[in-house]
Amino acid sequence: MFITVHASCGIFISQAVKSPILVFLLSLFSHYLLDIIPHGDRDLSEWIGKKPVRLFKIEAIDLTILAVYLGILFWQGSESNILLLVISIIGAALPDILSEIRHQSINSLATFYRQFRLLDRIRLIKGFLNWQNRVHDKLHWLIKTNMGWVGGISIQVILVLMFFFLTAKFFK
Ligand SMILES: [Zn+2]
Repeated sequence: MFITVHASCGIFISQAVKSPILVFLLSLFSHYLLDIIPHGDRDLSEWIGKKPVRLFKIEAIDLTILAVYLGILFWQGSESNILLLVISIIGAALPDILSEIRHQSINSLATFYRQFRLLDRIRLIKGFLNWQNRVHDKLHWLIKTNMGWVGGISIQVILVLMFFFLTAKFFK
């Protein structure tokens, strides 16, 4: 699911809740819940395949859309707490960031660990990243559908619009 969708949900939470810790935890939790909704990622993952450039391009578009989204919210006259906003976006995006770190570093971590066998901490971090990835993946593929990318993107647009209007209510 695009970061913009997760972030728009997090931003909504940051408007509805005022405690930084709660904003972080609820935004984090919302990521796993949203990922359960089928959103056509399979097509996208296949297209990206082993070409990180494609992932980079998609993320560049994704983050640009998020910047526009934030721009529109502020243009609407937001008086929102920037710190809470940032916390909510980090929380909402964290599972994907952690899974990507694991994806990119699992081999180097293993080599590193073999070289410095004493580093229990690495094993702990690796264990945590593996566990996080298992939970993330399980929820992500919980509902099996053959939804194509058109259906998937439509669902994600609907979700962003929904969170936008919910957020706009709280911005006033
Ligand atoms: Zn995710």
